[in-house]
Amino acid sequence: MNDEFQQRARELIEAGRFIHRRGWAPATSGNFSARLSDGRIAITVSGKHKGELAPDDIMLIDAEGRPLDGKKPSAETLLHTSLYRRYPSVGAVLHPHTPGATMISRLVRDALMLEDYELLKALAGIDTHETRIHIPIFPNDQNIPRLALKVDEYFELHGDIHGYIIAGHGFYTWGETVRDALRHVEALEFLFDIETRLHGVKTL
Ligand SMILES: [Zn+2]
Repeated sequence: MNDEFQQRARELIEAGRFIHRRGWAPATSGNFSARLSDGRIAITVSGKHKGELAPDDIMLIDAEGRPLDGKKPSAETLLHTSLYRRYPSVGAVLHPHTPGATMISRLVRDALMLEDYELLKALAGIDTHETRIHIPIFPNDQNIPRLALKVDEYFELHGDIHGYIIAGHGFYTWGETVRDALRHVEALEFLFDIETRLHGVKTL
């Protein structure tokens, strides 16, 4: 394995520790990946505890999601590879199972609108709170190719987004680097949590 793979693997291991510490990837849930400059992808293997990842728990796949080292990638690998295919600038994809994303998907259907939050500026390309973004919410589906197709259809219809929620499950976000994607995880989960409290109050 080359230095670049080892560097990306280290970043994914650290991201896993951070995400797990915050309670955003309980009980082996979630999966994380980073793209190498030659197009191969470092991704967490299936079923490992994300707070206790070791270098051996990060594997290599090709752009189509095929394992290159005999290990078993996450069941949701296709959701990572389709993001890399769509966005040449994306270098990392993070998928936590957070309380905020899970709860807001019980209160809001189809899409969550985020507007007028200072923290939106943590998302790539946004420099003012006077911004409105939509985070689509897709029904959960154990058929990952079917779910990936739905996500792709959304991109075709609505253009670029910063992340999406899978209902009762978690969310996906991405960035040029693992650090960028992690900043998006932290900002979006904060906003999902705020929106959950607001919507919860409104439905009382
Ligand atoms: Zn998941």
